Amino acid sequence: MAKLTFYYGTMSSGKTIDLIQTAYKYNSKGLKAIIMKPSVDTKGNDKVVSRIGMEKKVDILIGKNESINKYIDVLKNINCLIVDEAQFLSKKQVFELFMYTKKYDIPVICYGLKNDFQGNLFEGSASLFSYADQIEKMRALCATPGCPNNASFNARKINGKYVYEGPQVLIGCDDEYDPLCSSCYVDKVLDNVDMECDE
Ligand SMILES: [Zn+2]
Repeated sequence: MAKLTFYYGTMSSGKTIDLIQTAYKYNSKGLKAIIMKPSVDTKGNDKVVSRIGMEKKVDILIGKNESINKYIDVLKNINCLIVDEAQFLSKKQVFELFMYTKKYDIPVICYGLKNDFQGNLFEGSASLFSYADQIEKMRALCATPGCPNNASFNARKINGKYVYEGPQVLIGCDDEYDPLCSSCYVDKVLDNVDMECDE
């Protein structure tokens, strides 16, 4: 039985490098793996781009309201479907991917973030936690110098300062993200939010 697998991790947990290697493993054996990416992610457009400069072309850029089934003529003739930035999938698309693994017996491997900069689950990730046959956590170290903990939050920085308010997805803004452990996320982000509140 083919599985729907979800590899989740914060920024800098090596998701993209793992994705590129997975595609390479299939393709180097003469098997066909193709890469899908939700088009809401504008970083790299039709490419999967890792922080250390490796990149790979995306085969299918899927729109937020597009059905996976629209691409079924391509998808039914492959050996593996790999999805980058899977947190941006809709609930319906995740369900379609789950059904696709079972109906066509073709594995789907999704890579994505678990939670946004405020700690909330993304729609795609929440659905993947519901439907994935297998869930694996990828590890990244906390970005705070000297902190030995694993990161579990993606803190947003604008102009070098941590922020808590704002939309889930910023488009065309000069935002950066730091992977932080929960205790550094409290110190650097949540504590500052509380200070701004009238108590
Ligand atoms: Zn830390």
